[in-house]
Amino acid sequence: MNFAVKKQILDKIKEYDKIFLFRHIRNDGDCVGATKGLKRILQLTFPEKQIYLIDNDKAEYLEFLGPEDEPVEDAEYTDALGIVIDTASEERISNKKYTLCRELIKIDHHIPLENYGDIMWVEEERSSACEIIADFYATFRDELKIDSEAATYVYTGMVTDSGRFKYEGVTGDTMRNAAIMLDCGVDTEKLYAHLYLEAFGYLKFKAEIYQRMQITENGVAYIFIDKDMQKEFNLTLEQASACVGTLDSIRGAIAWMAFIENGDAENSIRVRLRSRFVHINPIAEKYRGGGHACASGATVYGWDEAEQLLRDADAHVKEYKETHEGWL
Ligand code: AMP
Repeated sequence: MNFAVKKQILDKIKEYDKIFLFRHIRNDGDCVGATKGLKRILQLTFPEKQIYLIDNDKAEYLEFLGPEDEPVEDAEYTDALGIVIDTASEERISNKKYTLCRELIKIDHHIPLENYGDIMWVEEERSSACEIIADFYATFRDELKIDSEAATYVYTGMVTDSGRFKYEGVTGDTMRNAAIMLDCGVDTEKLYAHLYLEAFGYLKFKAEIYQRMQITENGVAYIFIDKDMQKEFNLTLEQASACVGTLDSIRGAIAWMAFIENGDAENSIRVRLRSRFVHINPIAEKYRGGGHACASGATVYGWDEAEQLLRDADAHVKEYKETHEGWL
């Protein structure tokens, strides 16, 4: 699928001596795995090229994947090719220096919010951006080189963005691509330990989430996590945000969301929206957000607007339940 665009991208990579990789703000396993994975594949294949991955945004839980490159002078970007992975809109690109690159490629699996870049390879049905990178490797495996390090990066994103191969977007292709990565020697026991073991104190926080979670009339489960709660459990914003998954297995709650107070002057609240069966992205898009059909993010200002989003989500779920069968 999409062979022409993949070939175009490989040709562009060959054309440039210098390549910068970019990803989205608030990085996650997928954008980190995809950028580090592609960087490693390109370094192994084209040792004479300079490949940079520069990003100040850090996610603590991914530190085991190792550090990024040190910043370079702006002038370095101007004769380079930029590749932005896993980022639907320019606004969400973490390292803003991408604008300096001579040409830009977008590789993504989000519902497109806007077009940017000279070449775009977007497959929104893919379960992760890493799956696209694995597909890129698989397509040109006679030319590209990979090792267990690169495969581990790519596999990390495939696992995390698909909820360990659980979400709707997982297909036979996902598994075939994952298999190719596993064949390169991924230490899954170590990887899963890094990804899924939780601190004792964090489990106590989860227990509190179960105590405080609420549900709307038509089945939207939710939790408000204000600054006080974050302080009480000594959590970073990222750690607090990770709790949305705790609400994912309530029978009848086909949408669930976490509201995390950012603690800034604008009283902004990060919203993480998740769903099964019903698509939740229309609600995210109404509140300055977007993402995937069943996993989106948004921002609201103040608890009143949070309540308003909840009312909209509840009406959306009500309508879905009234017009569909087979949901659980
Ligand atoms: P999150 O809950 O932040 O993990 O977001 C779920 C998905 O929605 C991710 O793929 C994000 O890239 C995307 N997303 C989150 N926030 C936004 C936003 N404000 N605008 C567009 N997409 C978003």
